[in-house]
Amino acid sequence: MQKIYLDYAATTPMHPDVVEAMQNYFSEEFGNPLSLHSRGREAKKAVEEARCEVAHALRAKPEEIIFTSGGTESDNFAIKGVAYAMKNKGNHIITSSIEHHAVLEPCHFLQKNGFDVTFLPVDEYGLVDPDDIKKAITDKTILISIMYANNEIGTIEPIKEISNVCKEKGVYLHTDAVQSFGSLDTNVDHLGVDLLSLSAHKFYGPKGVGVLYIRKGTRIEPFMYGGGQEWNRRASTHNVPGIVGCGKAVQLTMKEKDERVKHDTGLRDKLIGSILDKIEDTRLDGHPQHRLPNNCHFIVKYVEGESMLLKLDAVGIEAATGSACSSGSLEPSHVLLAIGVSPVDAHGSLRLTVGRLTTEHDIEHVGRHLPDIVAELRKISTLGKKF
Ligand code: PLP
Repeated sequence: MQKIYLDYAATTPMHPDVVEAMQNYFSEEFGNPLSLHSRGREAKKAVEEARCEVAHALRAKPEEIIFTSGGTESDNFAIKGVAYAMKNKGNHIITSSIEHHAVLEPCHFLQKNGFDVTFLPVDEYGLVDPDDIKKAITDKTILISIMYANNEIGTIEPIKEISNVCKEKGVYLHTDAVQSFGSLDTNVDHLGVDLLSLSAHKFYGPKGVGVLYIRKGTRIEPFMYGGGQEWNRRASTHNVPGIVGCGKAVQLTMKEKDERVKHDTGLRDKLIGSILDKIEDTRLDGHPQHRLPNNCHFIVKYVEGESMLLKLDAVGIEAATGSACSSGSLEPSHVLLAIGVSPVDAHGSLRLTVGRLTTEHDIEHVGRHLPDIVAELRKISTLGKKF
């Protein structure tokens, strides 16, 4: 059976050019960038070229780019690193209630260790109000962390406006740009951010590699202590093939960005139109305009999301209920609860995210199968309305 992958927010297939670029660094060019011999120097050169590629894409300086093991590490590094470096100035952090767990969990950890964290509410679309941030800042606030775009409902946050507030108050701003790189402007000066997280596997690069941008002069504790790599900020031997793959994926993303955005937006809008048209008692979540070009998220009332996923999988469609990390749990999504969805309705969530290999045929396939699947599940539903 042909598989139709509609879970690009969970992860993306590596671009063939990325695979090719990495290959040699698993075998022939296996050197350690800290070694002084020629093989080591070749590995170092490859890492530094990748760093320049990322720096160029973010309009940053190469020394402001730190390679990490992924988005989770970048978020942990930014939040814990700034918190501990700034603890003599203050102990207050502001974030939103719809962040990824990679931000929420380090915040919970810090709460247990003497820090004070404000989790701001969002509106029905998932938008953070910059005025709420202004009101929440105290003389103890040291860091604000707001995601650029939400991984479940796709809403894009007003980072520029938030950064104006942070600048006025002299507080560092971190943004988790894991879902938005490749579709939104990620020029760190346009955004006005001090720290920014990326993850290569979300833009057709390898898993297990990420980036933390740290603006020059930002006070931050190292994330890992050891052999002094990454200017003593993140020790451990570099993941050379991964970093090379990340650099290549960044390069391709910048080159193909306009084309990818156009492609994804067209398919996303077709998919949204088709589902809302064909299935009654269904609503689109997230902001209707300020949303990621590849994200469709629905509440399909009177059905369970997990049952929908299994039935979709049976006809070859790979989808998600929400974030990949929480889809193993039966707890309703914290994002949906935060935008005011009832716990019962939150169970009927469905996320379909398109990408560079999605075709019109894929969208039509969903339109052919999903209405029947929903009708079938609603017949046996215990979640309210009788069909
Ligand atoms: N932040 C966001 C918004 C994400 O969507 C994800 C992954 O789903 C992460 C962080 C974690 O990234 P990684 O899987 O590279 O650790």
